[in-house]
Amino acid sequence: MSKNLPQKICAQCGRPFDWRKKWERCWDEVRYCSERCKGEAKRQKRPSYP
Ligand SMILES: [Zn+2]
Repeated sequence: MSKNLPQKICAQCGRPFDWRKKWERCWDEVRYCSERCKGEAKRQKRPSYP
C-alpha cells in the first residue's frame, strides 16, 4: 500500500485518474484520462475552419 501515484482530474470527464507508465515522460502535459476524453475535448472546441 505504499504506492503513491500522482493523480490528476480529467479536464473532460472530471474524474480523477492515476499516473500511468505511458505518461512518465509527459505527465505535466497530460490533461485527460483517456484518448477518448482527449478526442471529445477536441470535438467540443469549435474548430474554426474557413
Ligand atoms: Zn476523462
